[in-house]
Amino acid sequence: MSYIVFDLEWNQPQDGKHSDERELAFEIIEIGAVKLNEDLKLISKYQQLIRPQVYQEINWRIRKMLALKPGELAKGKHFPKAVREFLEWCGPDPVWCTWGTQDLTELQRNMAYYEMTPLSTEPIRYMNVQKMYGVMCGNIAQSKALETAVDELQLRKDVPFHRAFSDAYYTGKVLARIPEEIRTECVSYDLYHLPVSRKKEIHIDGPDGECLITKGYEDREDLLHDPHVMTIQCGKCGGITVKTAVRWFTANNKVFYAAGCCKEHGYVLAKLRVRKNEQSLFYAEREYNYIDEAAMEELKQQRRETMEKQKAKGVGA
Ligand SMILES: [Zn+2]
Repeated sequence: MSYIVFDLEWNQPQDGKHSDERELAFEIIEIGAVKLNEDLKLISKYQQLIRPQVYQEINWRIRKMLALKPGELAKGKHFPKAVREFLEWCGPDPVWCTWGTQDLTELQRNMAYYEMTPLSTEPIRYMNVQKMYGVMCGNIAQSKALETAVDELQLRKDVPFHRAFSDAYYTGKVLARIPEEIRTECVSYDLYHLPVSRKKEIHIDGPDGECLITKGYEDREDLLHDPHVMTIQCGKCGGITVKTAVRWFTANNKVFYAAGCCKEHGYVLAKLRVRKNEQSLFYAEREYNYIDEAAMEELKQQRRETMEKQKAKGVGA
């Protein structure tokens, strides 16, 4: 088994259009990667510039950041050829590692644009080193820049930043400092492809609860009325439905909260985030967490306030 730590640089046009209106929002212009062995030691390097096909003009900010020399990109490889070579270099069943959440999605998007064989037709499990570093620092809410992590860990800056290779290289160095239990427990999935069926849905068990990533729904209301998603259960009892203590409510129609009460294990807080994926399907990420009496009272209060505000605005409760 080997870890493939990779980073992409991409270009986006500056014509004022929203990225949703484009067939390809970000065109990959560079791939950089390092391969690490099971002991997280660097065993191989990969670096490739891509000749742009979709957007010939490189955004000046990107040009400046990458410090590209004139004509440098024109010598790059055609995307499909570069990716085929890259995947060959990766070898079978790589463990994908990236800084942040975007790179695997963009890689798959660009591959789809060129009608290449997809990396997978399902969610891809990967290591989000940025998130792991946040867990290690005790702060998952804040997303730190890679260079900040490198500084905080006092890693030697022996390669200049902001090229795909260097970012992959430093991400690999940070990964090597993440304790094993965090590497094992901090699980991420790239959801460019959602679970195709209920059977394939993703369950992640954590120390304080569990997380579910549902399949996709064409209609948002179908998702919000699916008992499988909306019924609160106690994971500690093996998925037994618990008594509802606080009914579902939402302040923004994106994040929903409710709570249940298990006779044996106490209050279960349910948080449901509704999202839309690449293929315009709706899905939810639902988290269960066990909470105490005080947090329960807080939630009840939050629901009362939310409902009052909605009543005042004339929104149906
Ligand atoms: Zn229970």
